This record gives sequence, C-alpha cells and structure tokens, in this order.
Amino acid sequence: FVNGKSLTSTSGSTASQSTFFAPRSKTPNRQAIALISDHGDPAAEIGKEEAGGQNVYVRQVGEALSKLGWQVDMFTRKAKADDPTIVQHNPHCRTIRLSAGPEEFVPRDRLFEYMPQFVEEFHKYQAKHHYPLIHTNYWMSAWVGLEVQKTHNVQLINTYHSLGAVKYQAVPHRPAIAETRLAVEKAILENAHCTVATSPQEADMLRSLVSDLGHIEVIPCGTDISRFYAIPKVDARLQLGLKPTDEVIVYVGRFDPRKGIETLVRAAQLIKRNTVDASNLRLVIVGGSDPTKPDGQERQRIEQLVGELGLAEHTTFAGRVGHDRLPLYYTAADVCVIPSHYEPFGLVAIEAMACGTPVVASDVGGLKFSVVPEETGLLVPPQDETAFAAAIERILSDELWARKLRKRASERVQQNFSWTGVAAQLSDLYRRMLAQSIMGDMILPSQSAISVSLNPDALPNPSR
Ligand code: UDP
Repeated sequence: FVNGKSLTSTSGSTASQSTFFAPRSKTPNRQAIALISDHGDPAAEIGKEEAGGQNVYVRQVGEALSKLGWQVDMFTRKAKADDPTIVQHNPHCRTIRLSAGPEEFVPRDRLFEYMPQFVEEFHKYQAKHHYPLIHTNYWMSAWVGLEVQKTHNVQLINTYHSLGAVKYQAVPHRPAIAETRLAVEKAILENAHCTVATSPQEADMLRSLVSDLGHIEVIPCGTDISRFYAIPKVDARLQLGLKPTDEVIVYVGRFDPRKGIETLVRAAQLIKRNTVDASNLRLVIVGGSDPTKPDGQERQRIEQLVGELGLAEHTTFAGRVGHDRLPLYYTAADVCVIPSHYEPFGLVAIEAMACGTPVVASDVGGLKFSVVPEETGLLVPPQDETAFAAAIERILSDELWARKLRKRASERVQQNFSWTGVAAQLSDLYRRMLAQSIMGDMILPSQSAISVSLNPDALPNPSR
C-alpha cells in the first residue's frame, strides 16, 4: 500500500505487524485501519447529548478516507441494546459497536471503568484485521490506544476533541475522573506517534498546558461543502416559515452550559431593548435534547430564561435538525452565533460560513482560527452579552458589509475546510506514519520528539 510497493519490515516485527505487508490476492490492496471513538458513535443521530462534533468528525473522516482507498473500521461503545453491532456505511467503511459496560447511556465521567472491556473486545478485531494504524478520538479512546500499543506494533494517532487541561481551568469542583484524564492526556501526547490538533490554537494549548514532548501536526476539521453551501436566503426562509424582513439570529449546537446559550439569549434581550421596533427580531435555537438527560435540563433552563427576559415571542426552539435540513437554517439566518466558553474547533462555525452566513463567535480556541474578524464575522470575549449584542447589531444593521462577509465566509471554507481536503491530509499523514514504522527515523524530522518510551506504570488503570 505504501507508494504501491510491497515493503518488508526492517525492525523486529510482531506477527500482527508482518501481516500488514502480507500479499493480498483477489481484492485490490486496501489497508485496513481503525478509528476509535469510545463515546462518539459515528453512526449516531447528531445534535443530542454526547452526539456532536466528534461523531461528525469520525464519521466524515472515516467515509472520506474510505473513498481515498482505505478500509476503515470505526469502533465505538454500544450504548443502546437495540442498536446493531455493525453499521455498514459503504463497502469500505463501517461502524462497529463494542460491548463495554451496560448497553445504555452512561455519562462520560463514568465511562472510564468500562474501557478495559472495550480494549478486550477491540483485541478480537485487532487479531483478525491486524490494523497497523489506530487513530483515537478523545482521551478515553487514547487510553485504549495506549493499551493496544503495549501488545501490538501499531502507529498511534490521536485527536483530543476536548481538553481536560482547559475544561478544568474553569470548573470550581473537579470531578473524580479529572486526575486520570489529565494523566492520560499527557501520556498520549508524549507517546502517540502523532497528535492531530485541529487548529494552531489547540496545538499551542497542548504545548503550554500538557507537555513539550510529542509530535503534533495541525489538520483542521472540515465540512461537507456539497451539502453546506449558500442558497438564496428568501428560498430558505420560505421553507422555514420566516419572513424576508425578519432579522434572524441562529444558534446550532448541543444544550450544554459551556456552549453559552445563556449569553446569546441575554444579548438578544439587549438587542431587543435597543431597537425601536423589534417585532422582526427572531432567535432560532437548533439542537436536540432529552428531558431525562442533562441536555434536557439545560434546554429547560434556557426556555425559562427566554420567558423571563420577554423573548418567548421572538424565539423558536427548532429541536434537533439533521444535516439534510441544517443548510436551510444557516442560509435563512442573518448571523450565526457561537457563544461557547471554549471550543477546540467548532464545526458549526465552518458549516455556517460554508452557507455564506457571517459568524459572531467567542474569541476562543479553534474559533480564532476559522472565523476571520471583520472578514467572515466577528470575535468577541466569551460570556460578554454586551459585546455579543454589539457585534450582532453591527452585522444586522449594515447589509452591504454583511454581503461582503457572506462571500468571504463561503470562500474561506471552500478553500480550507472541506472534508475531502482534510481526509487527504490525514491520508498523507497515515502513509507517512506507516512508512516511518518500517523505515525508522528517516521520515519524520521530529522523530526524536516522539520516541519517548511509554512507562506502563505511569498510566492510570481503571481497575487499580
Ligand atoms: N448538529 C446537528 N443537529 C443539531 C445540532 C447540532 O447536526 O440539531 C451538529 C452540527 O451541525 C455540528 C455538530 O452537531 O456538525 C456540533 O459540532 P461542534 O464542533 O460545533 O460542537 P460539539 O458538539 O463538538 O461541542
């Protein structure tokens, strides 16, 4: 597979490694690789508690990689008894749900104890398919990867998606799992063959908060530009029952206090207060929730706030919307607001921009990378409702400038953030990693930085 050549290992290879290079007779050479996403089920309904950017990332990357010639198996934990164990997305890409703990929803903070079982189940597939490369997503999957690495010669790549080192800075009481998470986040950065940071800001954060060691490459998240693109605003509004004269502000995302929806609602109230005739003001909040889960509680809290601030008549809770209809919501909006307290990347920003919608976002994390202030939207301090209100009003009140923002926004996404482009970069990284595994130090200039040996005793173990 590497450059189409049959390659032989020069290092003391294990049985699993040698099969990577075994000749394949009938089918064209497709290298099997594993993506691991412990809790972000790539086949799940997106937009609800625990189902957001990570699910989208793994699914889109997996499918795009399969189109580039890889055989992709995506592993996740089975969280519902009646979910099928295997979902085939195309002949070369599937989701495999492993039994690890009860087959029901388990909050992320309580999942780690089931990870040894996840490793055990994963080993069964590893024994059969001999994945030479594993790309893990989130710290618990990273722990799984580190465990697999103890017995198999695999190239290990990790994407964090969320960083405990950042999250716990703003939390007064750390959960019991915090120390374990921080230790694994450090171990994976130092011991993975490569960490994929989705923005330069995330890479800086990893260096300043986690470790100086380990190899990092920046490959952003992407969006499906054949689905997310600008259609005429009037058409989108017609389909959603919005008037051409409405001033439409949209939020898309999960209901989670860290998403900052409260800041947006308070900003909307300030805008209403500052406007002589606010009858056209529309706030559309898109995102799923379950009344029995934490996202249901957050939605209830936001609905109550909307009522208290006199915004009920201006606000629509659209519920979960699939990617088939989401472009309508983005296109219908004058502005998409992302008021997150922190965001390692923030897929919603590039989805909105791809649809030609200016973004007003918190000046944090990956949003600093995707949103170019004054060109594709505006960045303001997180949790500052006055700043959000002023930025939103600027865009609502200057149609000519807003038109320029819309054009630049969609151009920026097309040029930098398509899944196809992102998958091509990942594919290139995988090929380099696999080549490196047989050629030693020759491929990656930063090899020295990744050759830190793993001390298994330093790693947390749920059973200890
Ligand atoms: N999303 C969706 N439907 C909804 C709400 C959200 O499909 O009703 C998707 C959204 O389009 C995006 C993802 O969920 O692809 C959220 O990703 P993001 O990185 O913005 O946030 P995360 O959920 O990872 O915190």
